[in-house]
Amino acid sequence: MIVAIDGPAGAGKSSVARAVARRIGAGYLDTGAMYRALTWLALDRRADLDDGAELAALARRYPSRLSPGEGGVIVQIADTDVTSAIREPDVTAEVSRVSAHAAVRAAVVAVQQELIAEGDWVADGRDVGTVIAPGAEVKVFMTATVEERARRRVRDLERVGQGVAHDEMVAEIERRDGIDSGREASPMQVADGALVIDTSDLTEQQVVEVVERLVAGARG
Ligand code: C5P
Repeated sequence: MIVAIDGPAGAGKSSVARAVARRIGAGYLDTGAMYRALTWLALDRRADLDDGAELAALARRYPSRLSPGEGGVIVQIADTDVTSAIREPDVTAEVSRVSAHAAVRAAVVAVQQELIAEGDWVADGRDVGTVIAPGAEVKVFMTATVEERARRRVRDLERVGQGVAHDEMVAEIERRDGIDSGREASPMQVADGALVIDTSDLTEQQVVEVVERLVAGARG
């Protein structure tokens, strides 16, 4: 069984996806972490972020590896642990530029599809229900107002010692959403058959319960 959870930045996808995966005994795939790892590598190697072919070659040569660790998922690329580095502002600022290239997406999606080919998975991202797993048994599109999403992101980053002003975060989220939904190659959109959940006034637990009910329904 595949549970696809898509939506914009800060909608709470990853916390919900992780919780659902734990509760239903499925693996958790953070598809955004792969684009972040590639962006980290591209910045480290001073690659041209506008050159889709060069970036795709990098993605094919150095596929990112996600493995379960004590504090969550450990992300590695080119034999380097980039788990925290991929959450730094320099990576966040450029990831949508890197992920917009069709050639990059083809390389990354191939790895993602291979990963979830067997077993039960909860995957979150922008194109899980539309491209990576269009046949997913459960599809959800989580969203929330940009103000609420910015508040959540600022709070999350404060926890890891990164201070960002609310207005700056609103601007960053709007910029990233604009690129992610405006790009030609598999733009972020609501997948056919997906349930749209506006999480602005819901707790994480409430959203988890909605998704679990969908899973129970799909399992029959
Ligand atoms: O989910 P997260 O915010 O970590 O994703 C980082 C970026 O990676 C997104 O803003 C988007 O540009 C890209 N992404 C994507 N497709 C996915 C997951 C993430 O294009 N399935």
